Amino acid sequence: MPVDNYERILEKLAKASGLEKEEIERKIEAKRAKLSGLISKEGAMQIIAAELGINFDDEKLKIEELLPGMRKVNVVGKIINLFPVRTFTTKKGDEGKVANFFIADETSNVKVVLWDTNHIGLIEKGEVGEGKVIEISNASMRDNEIHLGSFSEFKLSDEVLGDVKTEKVVKEKEIIDFRVQEGVSSRAFIVQAFEPRFFHICPECNKKVVSGTEGFICAEHGKVAAEKRALINFVLDDGTESIRAVAFHEALKPLGITELEDPEKLLNQREDLLGKEMIFVGNIRLNKFFNNPEFILDDIQEINHDELIANLEKKE
Ligand SMILES: [Zn+2]
Repeated sequence: MPVDNYERILEKLAKASGLEKEEIERKIEAKRAKLSGLISKEGAMQIIAAELGINFDDEKLKIEELLPGMRKVNVVGKIINLFPVRTFTTKKGDEGKVANFFIADETSNVKVVLWDTNHIGLIEKGEVGEGKVIEISNASMRDNEIHLGSFSEFKLSDEVLGDVKTEKVVKEKEIIDFRVQEGVSSRAFIVQAFEPRFFHICPECNKKVVSGTEGFICAEHGKVAAEKRALINFVLDDGTESIRAVAFHEALKPLGITELEDPEKLLNQREDLLGKEMIFVGNIRLNKFFNNPEFILDDIQEINHDELIANLEKKE
C-alpha cells in the first residue's frame, strides 16, 4: 500500500467502522507499540481493519498484504501449483466439488480454494491452469487462504507477472500472532517435552499403516514391511503465548533426541531440553480432536547468537 493511500484509507476505515479517525489512529499506534515498532503504520492499519472486519473494497492488494478475516478481497496472481479437483458428498447427499491451487505475485504466494462449480469448470475445461495469471474479486480470507464463493469473480487476467515468489512463505512471528494454515518461524522456549509416541508407516507411500493379524497393512499397498516412526509433543512458549507443537522423526534430531528406544536415557534427553530456546519452523494446523492450533515442526535450529545480535543492531 503506497504511503499516500494512508489518509484515504484511514478515512474509509473511519466511515465504515463508525469510529473517529483519532480513535483508529490510536489503535494503529497501540498495535505498532505492541509489535515493538517493527511494523509500518500502513501494515498496522491493515491489521486494525481486519480486526474491525472491514474490507478494502476495490483495493487491489498484493498477496503479502492479505490478512486473515479480510472480506471482498481483490487480487491478481499466477497459478503456480494446481491440485486435482476433488469431489465430496454434501450433508444433503449431493455431490460437491472443491478445487485448490496456489497463486503467486512478486511479494508472496497464497492458497486459493474454489467452491463454485462455474469457477471449477474453467479448470476442468483447461481454460485456467498452471502458469496462467488470474484475477480474483470479491473473495474472502479464511485463515490464510483465499476462498471464492458463487458471488466471487474468477477470470483470466491480462496482467503480465514477471518473477513471482514461489518459495514457501515462512513468516517470522510471535506465537500470539500464529494463524492456522500459516508457515511460521518463531524463537521460543521448550517448556514441556512429552513421552514419544510410536507409529508405523508404509515404506512405499509414507502413510500410516494399521496393524492386522498378518502384520501391517497399507490402505494402498496392502501388506508391507512397515517402518517404525516416532513423534514427540512439546509445549513451546515465547512469552506472548504458548502452543502445543509436534516434531516427527527427522525433526527430532536437531533437538538431540537420539535414544528413542531407551526410556531412561530418553528421559534425560527430554529433561535437557526444558528451558532451551531455539528457532522453530513449521506450519500451523488445526488439531481437529482438541480444536486447538498445533505447530507442526519441519525444522528446528539452534540460535546463532552472533547473527541475532547483528540483526538487532541493524534494526536500531
Ligand atoms: Zn503404502
